[in-house]
Amino acid sequence: MRIAIVSVGDELLVGDTVNTNAAWLGERLDARGATVERVTTVPDRLADIAQVVNESLAAYDAVVVTGGLGPTHDDVTMEGVAAAVGRSLEPHAEASAWLADRGGYSADDGDPRTVELPAGARFLPNDEGVAPGAVVESVYVLPGVPAEMKAMFGRVENEFTGTETYVERVLVDEPESALADRLADLQRRFDVTVGSHPGDGVRVKISAADAGAAKDAAGWLREHANVIDVDAADD
Ligand code: ATP
Ligand code: MG
Repeated sequence: MRIAIVSVGDELLVGDTVNTNAAWLGERLDARGATVERVTTVPDRLADIAQVVNESLAAYDAVVVTGGLGPTHDDVTMEGVAAAVGRSLEPHAEASAWLADRGGYSADDGDPRTVELPAGARFLPNDEGVAPGAVVESVYVLPGVPAEMKAMFGRVENEFTGTETYVERVLVDEPESALADRLADLQRRFDVTVGSHPGDGVRVKISAADAGAAKDAAGWLREHANVIDVDAADD
């Protein structure tokens, strides 16, 4: 499955908050074999959310949206998602019942907008907070607070599928420019995808649908490059 992530929040754009949600989701989805192909960060603005979610829905198999679910004036994500799929926002009976059941809170004494979801959406309970999430068409709307987002993602993660990939990592003590030819060679010789990430040494990530191909490619590179420390490269 090809996935687009849409991160909502003014604070993400100005660097007040680091977008750890997108990184966490990318890792979890990748581990399931679902590929994240786009992450877009948008402000808490209805028109931007609606536009990006609508475009992402047309181009990807599923869209995961995080942030801006609460009932405060700056939380307009549900409205944006509803607009993206051309539905109205409606009070969701199951969401109201779940919140009331949860302990003293009901739509009557809180902001009624909290339990409004796009018409016909599937309700996702928030095990770590209040604001409900939703699934509408193939858009998954999750909270921004990381603990809430993670718990809610756990309820739907088996809906994200794909082909599992095997990964081998090699840490090389050579300039990336010197290594380039051997990485191209590696890519030609084996049925693998090669990622090259310079920093403290060059971290080479070798991914393949077949475990043997990944191992063989890593073995070839270890013989043909100046490998620093295989254990350090494994984490
Ligand atoms: P609430 O119901 O608590 O209002 P929410 O879904 O409306 O939750 P936001 O208001 O968007 O979430 O964000 C709440 C907090 O969660 C932010 O102040 C920030 O600390 C954190 N947060 C939001 N988005 C992200 C993100 N992409 N990565 C990491 N942290 C985030
Ligand atoms: Mg909020």
